[in-house]
Amino acid sequence: MVTSREAEITDDGVLVVAGREVEHRHDSHESEMSLMPIDSALVGALHVEYLRERDLGGDEHLHHTLFQTSTLDALLEGKYDGDVSFAELEGRGDFGLGTLDALDGEMICLDGNFFQVKADGLAYSVEGKARTPFAVVTVFEPDTSKTLSKPMDFEGLCDHLDRVIGGGATCCAIRVDGCFDHVKTRSVPRQHKPYPPLVEIVENQPIFELHDVSGSLVGFRFPDYAQGLNVSGYHFHFITADRSRGGHVLGCRLARGELYIDHEGDLRLELPPDVGLPTPDRSAKKGETLDRIERE
Ligand code: ZN
Repeated sequence: MVTSREAEITDDGVLVVAGREVEHRHDSHESEMSLMPIDSALVGALHVEYLRERDLGGDEHLHHTLFQTSTLDALLEGKYDGDVSFAELEGRGDFGLGTLDALDGEMICLDGNFFQVKADGLAYSVEGKARTPFAVVTVFEPDTSKTLSKPMDFEGLCDHLDRVIGGGATCCAIRVDGCFDHVKTRSVPRQHKPYPPLVEIVENQPIFELHDVSGSLVGFRFPDYAQGLNVSGYHFHFITADRSRGGHVLGCRLARGELYIDHEGDLRLELPPDVGLPTPDRSAKKGETLDRIERE
């Protein structure tokens, strides 16, 4: 049994998130999973369902549902072996981000196409048989769109998104198609065993500065209580309009663009065999580590 203040699987297989019992887990097959009625207190929060790779399958199209493989904590610990194939991911969403087997670059999924930005900063298309140790995707169905006509830097964009999205508990998929004066991205090189922890790898991460470029920010906002599962706050990857370059976004300056937001209500979390639910660690050290890895 794994316990945390935010998420816990009890001995009878019930997943509890943010102190609320939200899901009965059945071991045999996904079709046997039965959702409990959603408590109105859960509106605005994320409803999490837990599954294993063997439970994947089916063509169901779930609206406003995220699919994620593994957890950010597992990635931080160096669990870089791919568990889920891109062919499987493709059935779960047409929009998202993540990485690839052996941490071989930054992954961007946009309009149903999967791209890998390798340590050379260039984008390559991903084959269905390739696998990922960490990814989150959704069928992108924006319920909000807005023209961004004023220039803004990355911080300004995040502040703007906070105002548009509201409430800190909300989880969203976010796309910005625009013209950028500047985008600063990074990628990471393919790793070899024994895998070093992520924090060591990003110390030598290649950084790319793109100027006067059009393209798309592809990302998510996860609420604070999702820390450990995913990056709390904003996390964006970028790909140019010609799909030739990109990476994990460290900073940008948007000249103008179009913003699209898909509010997500559910998270289906696939956990590889050696990955458990995250344990809470809100220490300053963990926060600093995350800042070093995810932000500038
Ligand atoms: Zn990233």
